[in-house]
Amino acid sequence: MAKNKEKTHKVKMMEKQLSTKLSRQVVGSLVGCVHCGMCNDSCHYVLAFPDDPKMTPSYKADQVRKLFKKNHDWTGKVFPWWVGAHKAALNDEDLETLKDISFGTCTNCRRCTINCPMGVDTATLNRLMRGLLSNVGVMPEGVRVVSKDQWEIGNQMGVLKEDYLDTIEWMSEELEEDLEHNEAEIPIDKQNAKVAYVINPREVKYDPRTIKKAALIFWAAGENWTMFSEGWDQTNFGLFSGDDQLGGVCGKRVYEKVAELGAEKLVISECGHGYRSTRHEAVNWSGAPVEFEMESSVNTMLRYLKEGKIKVDPTKNSERVTYHDSCNLARSCGVYEEPREVLKLVTTDFEEMYPNRTENFCCTGGGGAMSMEEYAPKRLTSAKVKADQLKATGAKIVVTSCHNCVDGLADVIKHYDLGMEVKQLVDLVADALILPEDKPVPEELRIEPEEVAVAPTAGEDLPMAGRKVLVVDDEEDVREFLKTVFEDSGATVFEARDGDEALEVARREKPDLISLDLSMPGKDGVEAFSDLRRDSSTQEIPICVVTGHPEFRKVIYDRAVPPPEGYLEKPVDEDKLVAYAAHILEVRDRKQDS
Ligand code: SF4
Ligand code: SF4
Repeated sequence: MAKNKEKTHKVKMMEKQLSTKLSRQVVGSLVGCVHCGMCNDSCHYVLAFPDDPKMTPSYKADQVRKLFKKNHDWTGKVFPWWVGAHKAALNDEDLETLKDISFGTCTNCRRCTINCPMGVDTATLNRLMRGLLSNVGVMPEGVRVVSKDQWEIGNQMGVLKEDYLDTIEWMSEELEEDLEHNEAEIPIDKQNAKVAYVINPREVKYDPRTIKKAALIFWAAGENWTMFSEGWDQTNFGLFSGDDQLGGVCGKRVYEKVAELGAEKLVISECGHGYRSTRHEAVNWSGAPVEFEMESSVNTMLRYLKEGKIKVDPTKNSERVTYHDSCNLARSCGVYEEPREVLKLVTTDFEEMYPNRTENFCCTGGGGAMSMEEYAPKRLTSAKVKADQLKATGAKIVVTSCHNCVDGLADVIKHYDLGMEVKQLVDLVADALILPEDKPVPEELRIEPEEVAVAPTAGEDLPMAGRKVLVVDDEEDVREFLKTVFEDSGATVFEARDGDEALEVARREKPDLISLDLSMPGKDGVEAFSDLRRDSSTQEIPICVVTGHPEFRKVIYDRAVPPPEGYLEKPVDEDKLVAYAAHILEVRDRKQDS
């Protein structure tokens, strides 16, 4: 079919917006490429697909270059065939292709950028293309959903304010109990604190132990600190989607809260893109006045160690660890040495990964890739070089100062069966802490971080006492395992082997919680999940997805119905399962009481 020569409305809008984005940095990269190919081997996509020229950084950047040449550069007007301007996007079908290139074949890692002798910043051009597309509504579904949550709810995982505050209270109570010290708490909205601590919503939703560990470190250091009731999300999906407006709004929410409470310094928990956005980019996007200091919690922990505010015993972390540099924290923000200094103080066997620092390879989960399941197969193929890097270290633990990298690396480790564990510095520092005599290190904080709570052992104190749990899984041995775990923690357990049975039992027994597998014959868990959410007699029942399904995030990000209250990947740690289930029910109870 002949290509439609008439420009569509969306293409005209993109061209118009492009003319507002032509800064010196952008134009320098648009005109600077000589197509020498020296950056090619820097890119993990090129290494994984060496015969595909569409994976090269210059090909990806050329997509926006053609639009620029056609509309703004004399070469494109006089010699359109020579500079490729005649192939610039014309219709909505072209835009779908551009979407797959810019979101699906580049993680904006900037490794090619630092390997370009001409100083071309391909990642900036790729982000620019993403922004132009997002502005006309062309973006992957995951990006749309996450952006919407950040615009409307105020954080990128759609965590409601009451759930966030409940989780902080839960962690605060545990800290107090662990330390047997009623002044060990997590302060919220304290005026004039020295440090304001902002976090990644992933910590609230899937990894609350990192909040408790950070609180323990602040407490051990005797810090005057606070968290926020609002404006607490340091992440910024605007960096990934290319939406500068969203980027500015996210930054401003945090900056305004710091100013309102009069905090001296903003400390940003371990997150590469969150640090880059909050500390650097959003200041420009928002234009907001920022009259306070900002630092990564990596620097904060190092400072406490160097100033002697916290004491550590590195022998408590004796397994071999290696360090993965987050592209945003390291390559884009220059935080290379501080995490290594911390690691050398809190561990006994640190092994460097090669290449590292500026030349480290992306975890492949960068640029919002974890929210775009449709591109996961290509992403995981491109991760071969990362898997090889990890394996060569011989380490059992890979440490990274980025929540995005935690998920990206966990996927790579699982896909390539590397048998490694991912941790963050906050885990290792908290595990190595030596508290003064009257402040014993709590047992819970010395064991593996996956174990977020310890189940009491008898009678009514059992964490799931009096609860009814429906276990849905087609595999008998898995059902048996989950049933035993829940029964040992005091619950009454019902079972279902597929989606139809799950609906029937859920309607009849009205369980307090459903543990739901996704891959099942007949009606699978994905369909059952939607049906349970739509049925008025079951829609209020909390659901915890327990699965080894490779695309389970689709369920989480597909918001035709409200998302599940939690998910756990198989194989499941039993203590973690019980603690997680008990927490979900506690949050539900508080909601019902209020
Ligand atoms: S981006 Fe730089 S290194 Fe890559 S092809 Fe263009 S000029 Fe060469
Ligand atoms: S930014 Fe990273 S993923 Fe994108 S083209 Fe460059 S090296 Fe490849």
